[in-house]
Amino acid sequence: MSKKDTFPFLEIHRALPREVPVPIRVLGYKEIHGDFTDGDASDQAARCIDCGNPYCSWGCPLHNRIPQWLKLVREGRIEEAATLMH
Ligand code: SF4
Repeated sequence: MSKKDTFPFLEIHRALPREVPVPIRVLGYKEIHGDFTDGDASDQAARCIDCGNPYCSWGCPLHNRIPQWLKLVREGRIEEAATLMH
């Protein structure tokens, strides 16, 4: 297994969805950022290495199952990921 396969975050840089332009944002109270495409969401979710001691879950006050959620997103299983978070 190559370093790239083991540490995908070295190749896939962190990204946020594009910000919604201000003239549109002032029309309501929606999120500042728009949506990822499914492919971009999958790429970003692939940055998780399922590190075995998931600080993300331990640090989350709700102990959300973040690695499992990211795995579902990585696999394109968006509806299941949403259900898991709900
Ligand atoms: S399991 Fe959580 S803390 Fe570990 S790499 Fe994935 S997102 Fe980060």
